[in-house]
Amino acid sequence: MGMRYFLYIFLVSFFTFQSVFAASVFVLPNQQVLQGEPVMVRIDDVASVSEISKTTFDGKSVPVFLYQNKPTVLLGIDLNKLAGEYTFVASLKNGLSITQTITVLAREKKTEPLGIPEKLGGNTLQAQIALVTSLVQENAILNSLWTGKKAFWTQVFRYPLASNTVTDAYGYTRLTGQYTIAHKGVDLRASQGTKVYAMNRGVVRLARMFRNYGKTIVVDHGLGVQTMYMHLSKIYVNVGELVLPGQLIAKSGMTGYAEQPHLHITVRLGGISIDPIKFLALFGK
Ligand SMILES: [Zn+2]
Repeated sequence: MGMRYFLYIFLVSFFTFQSVFAASVFVLPNQQVLQGEPVMVRIDDVASVSEISKTTFDGKSVPVFLYQNKPTVLLGIDLNKLAGEYTFVASLKNGLSITQTITVLAREKKTEPLGIPEKLGGNTLQAQIALVTSLVQENAILNSLWTGKKAFWTQVFRYPLASNTVTDAYGYTRLTGQYTIAHKGVDLRASQGTKVYAMNRGVVRLARMFRNYGKTIVVDHGLGVQTMYMHLSKIYVNVGELVLPGQLIAKSGMTGYAEQPHLHITVRLGGISIDPIKFLALFGK
C-alpha cells in the first residue's frame, strides 16, 4: 500500500512536471523546418515577456515579444544553415528553463541560368565580376542597417501589392556565368508603376538607388524584422520616416539587375533572409 501510494505520487508529479515544462513551448508551423524558412516559437505557460530572462536559438540570443497574449519568438533559418538539430532555450527569471529541439531539413538545390542585362554590361566576364563585386558592397550596406529594440508593428504583416502573384520563388540559385547568386527573396508580378505598400508599421532605414538592387527601400519593423523592396521606379519615403501598414511607399519598376518590371521583396529576421511567403503564412494576413 505504502509503496504503491509512493509510486502514484511519483508518477503524478512526474507527469505534472512534464506537462508544465515540456508541453509549454509550441513551434509553428512545425518542429521540422526547411533551410530558408521561418519558425515561430510560442511559450505557452508564461504570462508575460517580463518573466523571461533570455531566449536563445543555436546559442545566439533572439528577441521575444508578446503576440496573441503569449511570449513569442520568430526564428530565421538561413538558406545555408547546415541540416540537423538545433536547440531553442527560454530561460525564465524563476531559474527554470524550457528547451525545444528544432530540426532543420535540407532544401532541394535548384539552379537556373540568369543572364546579365545589357544595361549592366551583358553576358561578359567583366560584367560578371562587376556584378558580384558590387553585390558584396550592397549587401554590406543592407547588413549594417539599424533595427529597433522593440517591435514597431501592432498587427500582423501584409503583402506589398494589391494583387500578389509569385513569378520567381525564394531559395534557388541563379547561375550567372562563373558565379552563383542565391535568390533570397521572392519576385511578385508587377507591371511598371504598380503601387507598393508597406508590409507593416516601421521606420525607413534606407531609400536609395543601388547598381544591382536598383531603387530600394528597407523598412525596419524592430526586433530584427526588416522588409526590403527592390527594383522600384519611384520612392515616396525618406530615411527616418515612420510608415504605417499598407502605406503607399513606392512604385514598382525594373531599376538595377532586372530584365523586366517586377517587385522583389526580401524579409529578414535577425539579418537572415527567409522565404517571405512562408513568413506571411506564419505572421501575416
Ligand atoms: Zn528577385
